Formats: sequence, C-alpha cells, structure tokens
Amino acid sequence: MENNTSSNFIRNIIIDDLETGKHKEIITRFPPEPNGYLHIGHAKSICLNFGLGEEFKGNTNLRFDDTNPVKEDTEYVQSIEEDVKWLGFKWDNLYFASDYFDEMYHRAILLIKNAKAYVCDLSAEEMREYRGTLKEPGKESPYRNRTVEENLDLFERMKNGAFKDGEKVLRAKIDMSSPNLNMRDPVIYRIARATHHNTGDKWCIYPMYDYAHPLEDAIEGITHSICTLEFEDHRPLYDWVVKECEMECVPRQIEFARLDITNTVMSKRKLKQLVDEGYVDGWDDPRMPTISGLRRRGFTPESIRNFAKEIGVAKNNSKVDSQMLDHFIREDLKLKAPRTMGILRPLKVVITNYPEDKVEMLEAENNPENLDMGNREIPFSRELYIEQEDFMENPPKKYFRLFPGNEVRLKHAYFIKCNEVIKDENGNVTEIHCTYDIETKSGTGFTGRKVKGTIHWVEAKNAVPVEFRLYEPLILDEDMEEGKTFIDCVNSKSLERVQGFVEPNMKDIKPQDKFQFFRHGYFNVDTKYTTEDKIVFNRIVSLKSSFAFKK
Ligand code: ATP
Ligand code: MG
Repeated sequence: MENNTSSNFIRNIIIDDLETGKHKEIITRFPPEPNGYLHIGHAKSICLNFGLGEEFKGNTNLRFDDTNPVKEDTEYVQSIEEDVKWLGFKWDNLYFASDYFDEMYHRAILLIKNAKAYVCDLSAEEMREYRGTLKEPGKESPYRNRTVEENLDLFERMKNGAFKDGEKVLRAKIDMSSPNLNMRDPVIYRIARATHHNTGDKWCIYPMYDYAHPLEDAIEGITHSICTLEFEDHRPLYDWVVKECEMECVPRQIEFARLDITNTVMSKRKLKQLVDEGYVDGWDDPRMPTISGLRRRGFTPESIRNFAKEIGVAKNNSKVDSQMLDHFIREDLKLKAPRTMGILRPLKVVITNYPEDKVEMLEAENNPENLDMGNREIPFSRELYIEQEDFMENPPKKYFRLFPGNEVRLKHAYFIKCNEVIKDENGNVTEIHCTYDIETKSGTGFTGRKVKGTIHWVEAKNAVPVEFRLYEPLILDEDMEEGKTFIDCVNSKSLERVQGFVEPNMKDIKPQDKFQFFRHGYFNVDTKYTTEDKIVFNRIVSLKSSFAFKK
C-alpha cells in the first residue's frame, strides 16, 4: 500500500520517540463513537492513525467508544467496520470501550480511596453555577469533603440503582479555581437507566468521556492518542486521569486540526438530522459527506486516501475546498474508467439519406489515454439521439454545434449536416433531419474539409434508457448568515434527475461500475435504485472544475 502519511508534526514526534527508545513499538487507535455513520472527516483520522501504524510497523486498534448508551446502535457499529475496511485498512484489534466498564469502575473506587473523587448531590444547574466562568473561579461543592467511607458507600449504591437518574454524580476532586474549566471537579460518572447495545442493563452508571477515554487508551497500551484540536484544553484532565488512576501505560494525547470542507456539514449529529428530517434519502445518500455516501456517489478508496494525504495534518483549523476531493476522483478515474457516450437530454436526429434498415458497427477506443482498455463496437443507423444543447435553431456567434445548414462531426462516426427542423403544434423542436456524408467516416483519414464542432450521440433503436442523477452541493455556504442554521442552507436543488440514453453495449453493467461520459463527467452505477429493468447513474463529478489546484 502507498504511504498514507506525508511528513507532519505527529510523524516527527513518533520518529523521535522511536529513536530515543521511549517506545519500541507504537500503538495507535481509531476510536469512533457508534452514534452515526462515518464521514470524510473520520476518513482523515483513519488514514492518519492506520497510516502511522503501517508506516512504523506498529499496531492500530479499531475501538468503539461506546460509553454513552443513549445514542449508540449496532447498525452504526457494522457500518463503521465496513467503511474502515473499504478504505483499505485492517485493524490489529477490535475493541469496545464498554468491555472496560468493570475496570473503569474499579479505578473510580481507587480515586475515591485516594480522596481524588467524591459523590456530589448538586443538580446540573447548581453545578453550572458553582463552576464559575473563565474570569471567575468556581465555588467548592458542599459535598466535596465527604469522607472516603461515605463516598465508597454512596458510589456503590449509585451502581446498585439506589438513586434516580441525575440525583447524584461522581466527580473528580481537582481544583475549583483552576483557570482551565475542565479541571474544576469534572463529573466522571453519571446515573442513566438506559439499555446499552453491548452491556444491556448491567449498568445504570456510565463513565463520562473525559474519564473513560484516557483509561481506554491506557488499557490498550496506546502510545500516541491522536484527537482533534477541541480536546487540547482537555489534555490536562486526560493526563490527570491516567496518573491518578495509576495506569501503567501513559499514552500521549496529540491534537490535530479537524477536517472541514466547504459546502459540507461535518458532524454526525447534523448529518443524522438531515437523514431523520428527510432532506436526504439515508446516510448513504450520494450527496452526503459520509463514507457510505461518497462510495455510493462513486468515489474510490484511493481517491479518498490521496485526498487525506494531500490535505495533510496541521495544528490549526482551516476549511478545505470541496473541489479538492473532486480533483482526486478525476485523477483516479482518468485511466481506469471507460469513456463512452451518454445523452442526458435527448433530441432525435434522423439521417434522411441513410438506408432505412441498415445498422453498421463502428469501432471506438474505450480510453484514448489508456489504449490497454481496448476498443468496442457501437451501432450506427438512421435514427440517433443527440444532446438537446447541441442543437440551436438560431445560434449566437461562435456556436459550432448543429444548426440549420451547419455541419458537425459525430464522434467515432460521420459528418452530418442539419437540413430541417421538425416542430410540434406548440413550436417545440421534436426532431431534426440531417444528411450524412459517407466519405467522412471516422478512422478513414478523410481530409476533404474541416468542421469546427464534434458532438456525441447514441443510436436510437438500441439505446439503453437510463436515469442520470446530477448533484449540486447539499449545503450552500453562501446562504449562511446570522441567525440561520445549517438547515436553512440546505440546497433544494441539490438533486436533478434526467431520463436519457446510453450506448447499447452498456445494458449489462452493474452497480458501482464507473464511466466517463463524454463532456458530462464521471458517473457511477447506483447501488440502491438500479434494478433489472433500469440503470440509474450518479454523477460523481463533472469533467472540469474552476478550482486552481496547488501542486
Ligand atoms: P462528530 O462530531 O462528527 O460526531 P466526533 O469527533 O464526535 O465527530 P467520534 O466518533 O468521536 O466523532 O470520532 C472518532 C475519531 O474521528 C476521533 O478521534 C475524532 O477526533 C476523529 N474525527 C471526527 N471528526 C473529524 C474531522 N472532521 N476531522 C478529523 N478527524 C475527525
Ligand atoms: Mg462525538
């Protein structure tokens, strides 16, 4: 596999740790919470963690950070495993944080015994008041000085279900006047009667993220715990937990900038809202930035890995242009995808001087940039479809496609000249009549005269009717202004469905096959809506972008 990490500060830390002998072997982890489907931001973290594990011949764990019973689900667990595998990575171990609940509980008892944790009866609201602000120190809870015996007894009763949800919490005893709010006696256990997808009803107390996560890392012997920047302020607490819980392994938390992309929301909570409120037709809707959505749209694992490598790892947040992702799928498919002809908005053409019943087969290259892909035969006959936009009755200057009296080249076929325009009673063009010149056949080296326009076409009788789904960004950044939410910026025109035709030799293609249609871009056969009777194509990207890509 290619090297998935370009040089970055995290790599340098690891190289240093291996050189100085601090670690003989590194262990990283990717720790998703199974409360939604993975998105392209997670892909960045996956490529980073697994990439480092591979590069330095260490281990990488896939760990489900499933300490919050309310939002988690096995459907998400399955989709996450599938997505990581699809991206091309193998975990050395698969763990569930909930398997450590016993150990976490015992470590909490250790904290209590060392007078480092106490049971507190303040309500959530009171606790907020007591916490203070960035400018003002907090106030100590009246329950802060309970005895060790009393705390042990209360915590055990919390575990045994003696109290109502929210009635009591266990808090770390750190420093109510710390300038870092995270250190002002954070809650480490809460009471919540909820059935957990892994442990069922065994527990009615659950550890909080800031307590659970460092323990999970330490239990697994993680050397480098890589997370996003918003956890920087939590690092002192992370280190406190590892130390005070007397963990043998001391992992190092390193923060990097989270991926943010233009015209995209990047949070499972928001993506779930788009699904639940029906703005999209599921987590894998081709407009979604989820890995499953990108897969259905037609992105390849290589394109996503190359994207992740290019954006790199930085210490400050910034927004990446979504067109950069488009660039990498174009690059990946350029030599892989067959180039073929598809008509999105058909207009019938009759070649009046072509014999009625004749069908001839013409030779076409499958990919002029990759001749190994060979040739195919496409039928040509008296009736064809061309693109509506390739004909104009009254064209402006510099329009080189078909118009009355003008001659163009049909890709892989002949020159045709437009002679007559047929209209219905409302004046709409229904078909156009042309003549072809047999001398101009493609591949025969005809040099008699030149035409300025080349257009694509499909033979009408054998054409395969298909649906093309064309996409625009789901979120319009430019619609965002004060007081608006991301839902107000959902693009109501993000999906357009058109009924067109493709070449007859495409009738046996299957979901996930990818093609370049001349002039229209790259397309993928949809996995959800393609049936025995109907092929549905998702446009992955158009051919060109206005994006100036920095090399
Ligand atoms: P979300 O807010 O979308 O739910 P999260 O951070 O809560 O994201 P987790 O499941 O907890 O999601 O994340 C698993 C890992 O993926 C974490 O290590 C997290 O730092 C990383 N991650 C999540 N979002 C991004 C992102 N946009 N860019 C880079 N890494 C990310
Ligand atoms: Mg989360």
